[in-house]
Amino acid sequence: MSSIAENVKSIKQRVAEAAVRSGRAPEDVRLCAATKMNDAARVREAIAAGVDICGENRVQELTEKYEQGAYEGCPLHFIGHLQKNKVKYLVGKVQLIESVDCLELLETIDKRAKSMGLVQNVLLEVNIGGEEAKSGFAPDELARCLPQMGQFSSIRVRGLMAIPPICEKTEEIRPYFRAMKQLFVDNGAKKYDNVSMDFLSMGMSADFETAIEEGANIVRVGTGIFGARHY
Ligand SMILES: *Cc1c(COP(=O)(O)O)cnc(C)c1O
Repeated sequence: MSSIAENVKSIKQRVAEAAVRSGRAPEDVRLCAATKMNDAARVREAIAAGVDICGENRVQELTEKYEQGAYEGCPLHFIGHLQKNKVKYLVGKVQLIESVDCLELLETIDKRAKSMGLVQNVLLEVNIGGEEAKSGFAPDELARCLPQMGQFSSIRVRGLMAIPPICEKTEEIRPYFRAMKQLFVDNGAKKYDNVSMDFLSMGMSADFETAIEEGANIVRVGTGIFGARHY
């Protein structure tokens, strides 16, 4: 077995165990392989080994690998910072844009999807740590924003995504995951047009088990599957 296949197998096992610990079935939590800086062959290995989703965080890299057929047979998500002028390269190509961080971006995606006659699924990224350097909706902004989704008829908001602050110890990150789950539940309890709170995407290689324990149902794992990235 290749190291990628072995890693996927062991991560899937840990995902399943964390799901059960949180009172859910293993298949309720999806494993998204964060594929940045890994070529098409390595992406295909991860897919063959059974990851549920591929997640790319740069549009150019996604486009190149897409043309090479890297993601065939696997749902594709966009998980990186997205500029408005790159929206046209993603709409209709990715199942989910996880990292929508402002209202203007929603407007641009809606326009593009409408012109293509389709509906684009998105998650709203939340700046759960209130970090200056990070984009995303502030937690209290969500409650003001979600009622406005009715105006975007070619978008479905399917949930929330977060990248909490870097913490030295895993236990320090847990409160951020817990706060995200609370936002997910509170905002999901209200009924807004074009919104259904189905997915909570949080947790990476260092902390995905904690994220699942706190309610994540998509985890995004890069290093744990592909090994360290060399920039
Ligand atoms: C790279 C990346 C990940 C995965 O990070 P690892 O620590 O390598 O698991 C998750 N989410 C996003 C948005 C990323 O860019």
